[in-house]
Amino acid sequence: METQGVTLRVLGGGGEVGRLSILVRPAGRREGVLVDAGVNFDDEDRPVFASTYPPRYVRAIILSHAHLDHIGTAPMYFISSEPPVYATRPTLRMAKLMLEDFLKLNGYYSPYEHGEVKRLLENSSEVRYGQRLEIDGVEAAFYSAGHIPGSVFTVIEAGGLRVGVTGDINTVETKLMKPAQLDMVGRLDVLVTEATYGATLHPPRERAEKRLLAIVEEVLDSGGTVLIPAFSIARGQEIMMILAAHDPGVPVYVDGMIRQVTEIFIENSEYINNPSLLRKAYESFNIVRGWRDRHRAWRQKSIIIASAGMLKGGPSLYYLKRIGGNPRNAVVLVSFQAPGSVGRRLVEEGLMPSSEEPLRARLEWLDFSSHADRNGLLEVVRKTKPSKVVVVHSEPDVAKAFAERVAAEHDAEVIIASNDAEYTFKP
Ligand SMILES: [Zn+2]
Ligand SMILES: [Zn+2]
Repeated sequence: METQGVTLRVLGGGGEVGRLSILVRPAGRREGVLVDAGVNFDDEDRPVFASTYPPRYVRAIILSHAHLDHIGTAPMYFISSEPPVYATRPTLRMAKLMLEDFLKLNGYYSPYEHGEVKRLLENSSEVRYGQRLEIDGVEAAFYSAGHIPGSVFTVIEAGGLRVGVTGDINTVETKLMKPAQLDMVGRLDVLVTEATYGATLHPPRERAEKRLLAIVEEVLDSGGTVLIPAFSIARGQEIMMILAAHDPGVPVYVDGMIRQVTEIFIENSEYINNPSLLRKAYESFNIVRGWRDRHRAWRQKSIIIASAGMLKGGPSLYYLKRIGGNPRNAVVLVSFQAPGSVGRRLVEEGLMPSSEEPLRARLEWLDFSSHADRNGLLEVVRKTKPSKVVVVHSEPDVAKAFAERVAAEHDAEVIIASNDAEYTFKP
């Protein structure tokens, strides 16, 4: 007799943003499919891994996208086993960069090493949007999640139920991304959704873009330099494209891992919204390739887009120290700033890193989030019509507020997931 129903084991991402990891299996069976295996960082910036499922029962690992909070625990499954890995081509290309960079910075705390990352990549296969796979009696299908290039919304059919896992999702169009392919996902029985911004509304995208351009113009007009610290994946390219669409008339420098990721996006142009605009930015901006370029970049009227987005090291921190003392310059934050990060300290205390010197440059913080806000997440529920909604990847108070809103507007039972808990659903 065929098993009926599905069991979810939440290995990470329950009551917390990030570190997502969910094992989906037909009810009553041990073997299942793992969606994501991410890592978070604590206040001292040390990695906090997701829990793991016994590797011998993991029939496949699906990686929703290349952010570390979705992939940083995955190599652990290759210490004693070799499950097949499925992800899109850009995700796999970026996963290599991200995991190697992770080990460079956190190797001391990591239970896996470069050999496990290598085996993960050797056991990986590319999937495309719209593709369906059969994995040991479970079917998986992949749609664009609209979050970053290559990100997938996974639909798993097992035990007579359709279970959708958003990964990280965005429902609005940006320069870099088309919205999530919600219309292709169809009707779900169970929706496992991120709710990072489940209690927030983002300003309209055009408003953030206009504001960025206005700030840049004002600072350049008074002879200053604009530093835009940005995440290497997606945010950096989004900012490049916004600037390229308006030709700022001064040199634009691009520094850090943003460059390698831009090259991956250009080589996988079918995964981005406006490839010619990204190509234009890449060809017309100055790509920093060494210290000579770096010294030149901040000594003139220019715009500098540099990783890391929260100024936790990387070239953006170097530039901040050079330009932060001059009130003619500006630092424009365009990314999430985690508590404890240099970026958050700039915002909250107005102090330069590793000193008590005040920041004298103008400071701005704009919202270019690549996550759906409350309305976007409600749209996901509305279009997929699930009878059960499982909320993950969300702070507890945000998850609670979002769950109440979903329950009020939809005929669905809402569950706020806890780490290491199991949830079984029957048809
Ligand atoms: Zn995430
Ligand atoms: Zn993400």
